[in-house]
Amino acid sequence: MKTEKNGFKKNDIVTVTITDMDEKGQGIGKADGFTLFVKDAVVGDVVETKVMKAKTNYAFAKLMKVITPSPDRVSPACPMARACGGCQLQELSYEAELRFKENKVKNHLVRIGGFEEEFIESIKEPIVGMTQTAEDGPYRYRNKAQYPVGADKDGNPVVGFYAGRTHDIIPNTDCLLGRKVNQKILLTVLDYMKSYDAKPYDETEHKGLIRHILIREGFTSGEIMVCLIVNGKSVPKEELLCERLVNAVPEIASICLNTNTEKTNVIMGNSTRVLWGRESISDELCGIEYAISARSFYQVNPVQAEKLYSKAVEYAALTGKESVWDLYCGIGTISLCMAKKAAKVYGVEIIPEAIEDAKSNAARNGISNAEFFVGKAEEVLPAFYEKTTDSDMLHPDVIVVDPPRKGCDEKCLETMLAMEPERIVYVSCDSATLARDLKFLCSEKYELKAWQCYDQFSRTVHTESCVLLERVSNRKADSYVKMEDYYRIKDAEGGEANG
Ligand code: SAH
Repeated sequence: MKTEKNGFKKNDIVTVTITDMDEKGQGIGKADGFTLFVKDAVVGDVVETKVMKAKTNYAFAKLMKVITPSPDRVSPACPMARACGGCQLQELSYEAELRFKENKVKNHLVRIGGFEEEFIESIKEPIVGMTQTAEDGPYRYRNKAQYPVGADKDGNPVVGFYAGRTHDIIPNTDCLLGRKVNQKILLTVLDYMKSYDAKPYDETEHKGLIRHILIREGFTSGEIMVCLIVNGKSVPKEELLCERLVNAVPEIASICLNTNTEKTNVIMGNSTRVLWGRESISDELCGIEYAISARSFYQVNPVQAEKLYSKAVEYAALTGKESVWDLYCGIGTISLCMAKKAAKVYGVEIIPEAIEDAKSNAARNGISNAEFFVGKAEEVLPAFYEKTTDSDMLHPDVIVVDPPRKGCDEKCLETMLAMEPERIVYVSCDSATLARDLKFLCSEKYELKAWQCYDQFSRTVHTESCVLLERVSNRKADSYVKMEDYYRIKDAEGGEANG
């Protein structure tokens, strides 16, 4: 089996106890001092594995047989779980999944952030998981799904998901993370494709028509959007496609066609045409109504997002007098939640279309105390800071950040420190970069006060957390004008105060 000098070699059969799981959700076990990474094995399992790729000190092995199942092992709810690249934790109980996620974030805060484990435990608020119904479990939560379209070996159109790390389509019309109704829509489109010879797209040849089917649902409105992403400007018999879809699923409020004729992995192209109904559907989050078009960014798990945003608002501790900056604001979802309880909110986002959406969402909800800027947070914030002087600067009481996975740019963090808000609320979808940024922010002026994880992406390894920092040292620039003072000065002067 094991050769003394080289560890394991390919095709070795090894029995191992899984003692941990890595960040990708693979089981980790040690055998004779060598580390094995075993996909689909869960912590607590004793498994028989076959070595697929061996390195000097570690190896990747395939799960052959579960000899003794872990108490946390469950049967996967989806028959495609192992082949499909979408879910990594389907064989772990949901309770264990929540522990896994909380531990992952905690480990990053300790190892990368440099915080004491005991301290991190003492300020933790327990992870908020999905409320499960007996019927659904932690599934069916995604309000958006994009299914690639391809052909089977006989040339028949299929839809499904990419197998892990490949572009091979595994046919599946009922992904359990998506809504049940999606299946009816997909089958209707497949039927239509066969009836009218609308060819599936072939990405190697860059030929064929239908590339992807995008489905979005507004959970509060119940409205559904179907968008076909096609390698062309039209599809055969558009009116019949719409008729079939609306007959099959009356909740459909919008049918669109997006053109993407590029040879690219990017799913959507730049132009979208409405085939039937409206250009967008609506949804409500934290009491605010949003218009969602085919290309809008919008939280995919709105039920959990609502809980997360409420936490961010709670951490911001707003009384109605504060000035709040919401960096990486997307379509303004956090900004608008904050605006209801603050004096003024400034949102910053790099994508111009998202800012257009943010502005129209503010107007749609009659919110007039939110202002939005297009640009990089690390450029807009310093520019604002530099052009103001200590005496006329509107001191931000709270800065909220919700950056993409790579976290905040250092220039952005430096400016946040220079601006010295009372509180910083950090919403993060990547705990490693969160921990890195907290180390920077907490090196002198700020103290970590509380953190909490929210499970937004059940059955996958992705985590989401919300963190509160408070300023510890006294502000240098006591001459900053506070928002409440600003209004006082403004009233006294009977006009515009500086700032
Ligand atoms: N807060 C929003 C969006 C968070 S996703 C919500 O909850 O819905 C992160 C956002 O940051 C994306 O919209 C992305 O376009 C934006 N972004 C990425 N890099 C940025 C940068 N350097 N400056 C500002 N925004 C950025």
